[in-house]
Amino acid sequence: MKELRNLIGGELRAGARQRWFDVWEPAAGQAYARAPESGAEDVEAAVEAAQGAFPGWRDLPAADRARWLNRLADLIERDLEKFAHAESCDTGKPLSLARSLDIPRAISNLRFFAGAATQFASEAHAMETGAINYTLRQPHGVVAGISPWNLPLYLLTWKIAPALAAGNCVIAKPSEVTPLTAAMLAELSIEAGLPNGVLNILHGRGAEVGNAVVTHPQVRAISFTGGTATGRHIAAAAAPLFKKLSLELGGKNPSLVFADCDFEATVEGTVRAAFANQGEICLCGSRVLVERSLYARFRDAFAARVRALRVGDPLEAETDQGALVSAAHLDKVLGAIQQARSEGGRVLCGGERARVASARCRDGWFVQPTVIEGLDASCRTNQEEIFGPVATLLPFDGEDEALEIANGTPYGLAASLWSRDNSRCHRVSARLEAGLVWVNTWMLRDLRTPMGGVKSSGVGREGGFEAMRFFTESRNVCVKY
Ligand code: NAD
Repeated sequence: MKELRNLIGGELRAGARQRWFDVWEPAAGQAYARAPESGAEDVEAAVEAAQGAFPGWRDLPAADRARWLNRLADLIERDLEKFAHAESCDTGKPLSLARSLDIPRAISNLRFFAGAATQFASEAHAMETGAINYTLRQPHGVVAGISPWNLPLYLLTWKIAPALAAGNCVIAKPSEVTPLTAAMLAELSIEAGLPNGVLNILHGRGAEVGNAVVTHPQVRAISFTGGTATGRHIAAAAAPLFKKLSLELGGKNPSLVFADCDFEATVEGTVRAAFANQGEICLCGSRVLVERSLYARFRDAFAARVRALRVGDPLEAETDQGALVSAAHLDKVLGAIQQARSEGGRVLCGGERARVASARCRDGWFVQPTVIEGLDASCRTNQEEIFGPVATLLPFDGEDEALEIANGTPYGLAASLWSRDNSRCHRVSARLEAGLVWVNTWMLRDLRTPMGGVKSSGVGREGGFEAMRFFTESRNVCVKY
């Protein structure tokens, strides 16, 4: 079995307590590696290393920090194929997706924030009374990035890159469900020669090592992506210590389909929005709201397109949908489908565990892509995040009802709307309670734009200079002349 290591102070280390947990390959349903079950001792060592590295890293010219980030990006790019295989093996997602989305995006994150390091600037405010204020934006010191399992390297680098670019030293805590590519990044950061202690990566359980990171007094800011319940817990633990927090949490995102949409493009786009990455993307549109006059035609085309999705071995090129990330998550998703049935939902396609032909996938955690109709907007199925290959269809009459249903959950992360009426698109976009709205597209990302949710989907924004501002503290200097 492969043995993964923490990265502390530029060294690869086992956990201080020499305890390990198993890492699983979802497509095979088998453990293939073990990783350190780190604890407070490891956090202490990582924080000490990060504090030691901070003055040197902070005082480097921004262009030098940018060079380090670009060097890391170059090495991941060199090993893209290895990283894509690792990500697919660890998450169950199709290799083709890891190769085209996850790893290229991790590389872009590092390159983008290398650029941001050299472009970041602050403001000056002149006063008519003969004084000028200028704002210094300075790194916090030691900061943490805690990330989930669905887009492991993509989301980890989305935190590490701006934190390092702004001059902080980082404690990164990848998900214990998918630690492999983070462990590979640790090895590359040593190969790149990144100064010791600038980046530290700790594996282990959220309740233990994650909690120790969050409550460590020297960790000044925490950027977290994960479930809403975990976010609530972290917010409560960090509040008495007055830490800066960015929380990117769950969603129950609507796709709003109007009768005047481009029909074929909308079917294609909304199926992708619901089922990409097995529906395990926080931005997935799992509630598909369809104007009643188009409902029957759209439902039939949508279900037919979903039936054509190929569930299979993630390593095969034709596979559209791989395995779910864990046995526990498989049970959760199958339980949610059962719940939908008991609430009176009609399963139009899917609804069961999928069996995949390839022998190595015999025990894998696959679920058929599932479409359900006939449920009330207020039932649990339409209110709670499932985070799997399950979409519900809901008819609506007119914009007001569409908005009422779309906004009628505790979440507010993302929405997509599909219509050829430009005025409607702007009007509805402005009234959707969501941090991100896509019009006639889905998950088209520009890294400069603010990313994050409202209501129970989170607090704060990532992306572009929003992230650079999060990872810096501002200080006003007022000079009288
Ligand atoms: P999770 O909340 O279980 O875990 C996320 C991370 O938090 C993991 O690294 C975990 O170890 C850590 N953690 C758990 N308990 C902790 C604690 N008490 N203290 C500190 N750290 C702790 O989430 P998950 O199951 O890995 O990911 C799925 C969730 O993430 C979904 O709800 C999804 O919507 C959300 N998500 C949100 C976004 C976004 O940008 N809004 C993006 C991706 C995923």
